[in-house]
Amino acid sequence: MGSSLITLHGKDFQPYLSAAQLAEAVENLAARINADYAGRQPLFVVILTGGFMFASDLLKHITLTCEVVFIRVSSYEGTESSGMVQEVLGLREEVAGRDLILIEDIVDTGTTMHHLLPRLLAQNPASVEIATLFFKPASLRHELTLNYVAREIPNDFVVGYGLDYDGLGRNLPDVYVAV
Ligand code: 5GP
Repeated sequence: MGSSLITLHGKDFQPYLSAAQLAEAVENLAARINADYAGRQPLFVVILTGGFMFASDLLKHITLTCEVVFIRVSSYEGTESSGMVQEVLGLREEVAGRDLILIEDIVDTGTTMHHLLPRLLAQNPASVEIATLFFKPASLRHELTLNYVAREIPNDFVVGYGLDYDGLGRNLPDVYVAV
């Protein structure tokens, strides 16, 4: 991992988690999902955009026969949650009776999931679980069951490995935290 600060839109970020640390956390999570869903054929629902890199690495370690689809909900502007979540776009697959595993980059306030889960549950899936790369327990404002968290982090703003700061930083293989 680079040991130096990076600057995005004039804001400084310092190294926080290396690609190797992320890989280990993601592999461990995939192993748990493989064990828990043995004999089932889950439908992974990747939440764009921030979840793309995590989803790619996680799914490479999933040994189950499974399907993968991509959806989009609203995202942040800047470093503060808008608290607003817009429409769910892109879920055309039949969800009824399926075991859904949502793949999300980060659960912060939980607002995104709080709005998304009822919409999915209304379509009568057999089950819904959330697999998130990061979880900030100190920020959570809604009741949520998170069974698959790759890593809990403090209430700081992070970028890299899919996560952006106003559009920048998604391509970084390591994760950085705002200084
Ligand atoms: P929530 O709805 O749980 O408050 O936030 C979920 C979304 O907020 C994430 O999918 C992500 O887009 C954004 N978010 C929350 N915390 C961070 C962060 O530390 N860094 C970045 N880049 N995005 C974040």
